[in-house]
Amino acid sequence: MEKLKLLPCPWCGETPIVNCYYNNYWIDCTCGVIKHVKCANTADAVKDWNRLNTTGKEREKIMKLFQTREVVDGMINCRKKPIIIQAKVIDEPFQVETLEGNYKTGKPGDMLMKGIDNELYICDRDIFDRTYDWIV
Ligand SMILES: [Zn+2]
Repeated sequence: MEKLKLLPCPWCGETPIVNCYYNNYWIDCTCGVIKHVKCANTADAVKDWNRLNTTGKEREKIMKLFQTREVVDGMINCRKKPIIIQAKVIDEPFQVETLEGNYKTGKPGDMLMKGIDNELYICDRDIFDRTYDWIV
């Protein structure tokens, strides 16, 4: 029999949990995503969950999805606070482990940033130049 692999949560990247109550099986995640469809066995519940990772239509059924450049009603102006963080140009390819536990890759010339919670992340040099000034 084919081994069924439970895919990570499409929203948070964590491994979700198979739940069982009497003869109903379903999947949910600690981030709050719940696949409500009750299935007769674990395999069906896993297959049902895994479809979330492949089709956007399935996602839209349970959670609102904003497109990158969608015009959203009710948004009002705000301005970034002048918070000082730290940055360094990295001149070679590099990786940073993210808070979600995966790895992001930076290209030579990208910025290694230390954010307000002391977390490291990567910023594209062009975006850095458009949004930050060096404090010297
Ligand atoms: Zn999740």
